[in-house]
Amino acid sequence: MSHSTEVQLSNKKLYAIRGGENLWDELVDFFAAHYSDRKLFILIDARVHKLHGRTIEKQATRYFKTCHTITIPEGESSKSVQQWTRLQDELLAKGIERSTPVLAVGGGVSGDLAGFTAASVLRGVPLIHLPTSLLAMVDSSIGGKTAINHATGKNLIGAFYQPDAVFTDIDFLKTLERKEWIGGLAEMLKYAAIQSPPMFDELKAAVNEGFEPSHQWLKLINKSAAIKADIVQDDVHEAGKRAWLNFGHTFGHALEKLMGYGNISHGEAVFIGMMAAIHYSNACGATIKKVRFAPFRPLYSASLHQELPIPDLIDAMRYDKKVKNEKIRLVLLKDWGQPYIESSADKEKLAAAWQAAFDELNS
Ligand code: NAD
Repeated sequence: MSHSTEVQLSNKKLYAIRGGENLWDELVDFFAAHYSDRKLFILIDARVHKLHGRTIEKQATRYFKTCHTITIPEGESSKSVQQWTRLQDELLAKGIERSTPVLAVGGGVSGDLAGFTAASVLRGVPLIHLPTSLLAMVDSSIGGKTAINHATGKNLIGAFYQPDAVFTDIDFLKTLERKEWIGGLAEMLKYAAIQSPPMFDELKAAVNEGFEPSHQWLKLINKSAAIKADIVQDDVHEAGKRAWLNFGHTFGHALEKLMGYGNISHGEAVFIGMMAAIHYSNACGATIKKVRFAPFRPLYSASLHQELPIPDLIDAMRYDKKVKNEKIRLVLLKDWGQPYIESSADKEKLAAAWQAAFDELNS
């Protein structure tokens, strides 16, 4: 059985995010109800293919007469023009038509690449997301952002393209590495911070139980998906409240940039970024108690062994793609669950926020 969250985008497309375990029957029923074309393309992360490919193909062929599987090399470097071109070439060579669905399977990397491929081939074919990493389940598969990277920066080429459905099956998490759980958890902590403070205690309990799929994790994944869906359906193209989802990210992206992508995980960078954003919020008059964050801190301080030069970090924040008119925009909190946008960050407060976050990490 699954839980379903409906996503309605400005009276345009309505689709469901189904979250549960062992969703194969529901998925096959969905295929049968929605697609008359009996051909399917499965675009799948190579590691996930090794672990789960045979099962996915077996289930898909319960409805589709032909399933073409195309694997995507693991890792961020696959979000490239080269991989996008390769996928287009293969889809076209194998006779994709406007009605042929694409099943995007894997974490955020393959989801973003396969999503953009589906958005662009033949000006758009049906897309279904099957997220398999925690981050993809709670974040990247929801909201319709698809992208590849450009030498100038991350996610600079892409499209807003909504899937027909998202099937979130927590059984996939049985094979997910601990560090990937921790990466996804950072985004769930973000939802707790900006929308649902009671989630902090629930997440703490789930972490204490361990990084294994469970009903408790499923409940929290569904809750996270619902929060993201709720935010993005009011603001499909990121004109307003969707920016709240960047809480901690402007700081975090600067850390990732300075340390070199891959030398610190996105989850670690976002967590430290959220710590800095909380300090900044308090400097603006909030009285946010950090005790809610404290239990998670030991999970996130592995890669940062030394403080980085704060002026360089502030400089790096200027180049974030969320910068407007060269001013650094920040998502801050009036209190837990009450985000707002600060459109012109102050240099001294930024420096103090970075320093406070480093001090806290070292305490
Ligand atoms: P990822 O796709 O690289 O997956 C992380 C690792 O987990 C990979 O090694 C992958 O092979 C492995 N993996 C995935 N599922 C697995 C499973 N079930 N068992 C074992 N291994 C598994 O990274 P990610 O953290 O999922 O996503 C990060 C990407 O998401 C970034 O490129 C980021 O830009 C993007 N993103 C997009 C959005 C959006 O709105 N589109 C939002 C947030 C992040």
